[in-house]
Amino acid sequence: MSGPSEPGDRAREDELSEGLATVRDRIDAAVGAAGRPPGSVGLVVVTKYFPAGDVRILAGLGVRDVGENRHQEASEKADLCRDLDLRWHFVGGLQSNKAAAVGAYADVVESVDRPKLLAGLSRGRAERDPDGALGPLDCLVQVSLDPPGAEHRAGCDPAVLDELCERLAGTEHLRLAGLMAVAPLGEDPAPAFERLAGYASRVRARHPGADVLSAGMSGDLEQAVAAGATHVRVGSAVLGARPRVQ
Ligand SMILES: *Cc1c(COP(=O)(O)O)cnc(C)c1O
Repeated sequence: MSGPSEPGDRAREDELSEGLATVRDRIDAAVGAAGRPPGSVGLVVVTKYFPAGDVRILAGLGVRDVGENRHQEASEKADLCRDLDLRWHFVGGLQSNKAAAVGAYADVVESVDRPKLLAGLSRGRAERDPDGALGPLDCLVQVSLDPPGAEHRAGCDPAVLDELCERLAGTEHLRLAGLMAVAPLGEDPAPAFERLAGYASRVRARHPGADVLSAGMSGDLEQAVAAGATHVRVGSAVLGARPRVQ
């Protein structure tokens, strides 16, 4: 791996630094417009498809929270960046046979959308943290914002959200930290995020510690912040267009 003084790395560092500054300005402006306290919205930089070298540069620029959506890639990068003080957020679709492996390195799993994942995540956390020094693994329930009857994408049906939250909250080694969602394709994100805010307050009424609301990406972070997101997940607006799409 090339060192940070290589000219190529310096150019990349400048790009990432500019991308980050732009996104932080957008977040600050949205927070101000919503009348929310400064600094109340966190940023997870989604580094999927970008190399571990970019993660390293981002860490040098003060990023602490990074997001990944594929198990294989995430585990390799987490391993390569073990010396950095990072929190790894798993934000992608999760196969139940990979849940234990993800639970063993992720610091936050944002995409819990069915009960079948709970046992594996719990086992993975217990294996990573046999003495319980880290405490339970923070998990977000991903809820679908697709209109009823639309082709199902990721996220649980809102009709079963309460039950899934209950089961997660009752699972050893896991903590129900809140909710995550992705705005529906081809629809105004603002009303969708308002629906999400409604689900979030319903869940918080039963689980007061579940105060995280993860919503908003490069294209819609302003609408998410207006609806009460506590952190946004931003990829391309920081890192540029993804090198390959699968
Ligand atoms: C890729 C991804 C993001 C970031 O998307 P951008 O549009 O690049 O900001 C956020 N959340 C999830 C779940 C993703 O998969």
